[in-house]
Amino acid sequence: MVITQIKCYRVDLPLHEGSYKWSGGNSVEVFDSTVVEVRTDEGVTGYGEICPLGAAYLPAYAAGARTGIAELAPRLIGLDPTQLALVNQAMDGAMRGHPYVKSAIDVACWDILGKVCGQPIVSLLGGRFGESFALYRAISQEAPDKMAAMVDVYRRQGYTKFQLKVGGNPDTDIERIRLASAQLQRGDVLVADANTGWTQHQAIRVADAVRAVDFYIEQPCMRYEECLAVREHTDRPLILDEVIDDIGQVLRGHHDRAMDVINLKISKVGGLTKARQIRDLCVSLGIAMTIEDTWGGDIVTAAIAHLAHSTPPALLFSSTDFNSYVTVSIAEGAPQRDGGRLAAPQGPGLGIVPRMEILGKAVYES
Ligand code: MG
Repeated sequence: MVITQIKCYRVDLPLHEGSYKWSGGNSVEVFDSTVVEVRTDEGVTGYGEICPLGAAYLPAYAAGARTGIAELAPRLIGLDPTQLALVNQAMDGAMRGHPYVKSAIDVACWDILGKVCGQPIVSLLGGRFGESFALYRAISQEAPDKMAAMVDVYRRQGYTKFQLKVGGNPDTDIERIRLASAQLQRGDVLVADANTGWTQHQAIRVADAVRAVDFYIEQPCMRYEECLAVREHTDRPLILDEVIDDIGQVLRGHHDRAMDVINLKISKVGGLTKARQIRDLCVSLGIAMTIEDTWGGDIVTAAIAHLAHSTPPALLFSSTDFNSYVTVSIAEGAPQRDGGRLAAPQGPGLGIVPRMEILGKAVYES
């Protein structure tokens, strides 16, 4: 089997709540997502999706994904998509870095491998742990009382893990954490995610002011060394996200005892092949993970579900269901939240069928 053609589709994903806001005054109202279709000579077709969180969040942006895929695609024609290591070696040989460009192509090849084997990707990644896994809900950055009120709103939807978007004014963030934590019930989990938004001294101030609150601090500062300094000044559990962009950073963080949990985003590390390597390393090292992606719709959510559901529950800190945040469905068969939990689809590959009427005409064809 060989790859004969690669196509890209562009789709807008508006948010149910109108906008999503995080540190640094950043916000997104409509996500610009790209669906990749990998076609083969045997009639098996695979799909993947890449949806950066705007252009300011990571070194990634939506138009860059499409430009990069157009650059890579001609180099992949003729390769066997079921040979994932060879496909990844070809992508890395043709383009240095730019993991987000490669992610949807890698996922589409996993979709093909699963279809060829007649197995869902979750089985190829090690197997399904239990019936379902727990999700977190992000709470968009707003005034402290408004954010605290959302804890109850989302708990009524079934969520028990809440991720507050902080990383703003430290005094306001202290209030955000205090008010939200007052809404917690036994068994709930609260994460304050600064998304790199605090300077080192601000992060230490916040951590100290709310040191009696039972919560996790996520990615307080921009640089790894700043996060490490914050870590050394607080006894709150610490999650690293934006700085964990490859397996070497996981090893460095483990060596430095820099974090208790990492946030593993599939496109941040280049696709399921590399995310699986990091997942398995973290399982071996005892590092818990939030398994997710930068953003996306039904296809990203399905890919997340296959990786999360094949992760031992003790080390799966949380995961996410991006398709429930957006108003547009781009695929049938995608996992749907049930009581704050999600399960990987049962069908072969990703277990989804794209809605071509929503994706429209391809914006790129190799
Ligand atoms: Mg985060």
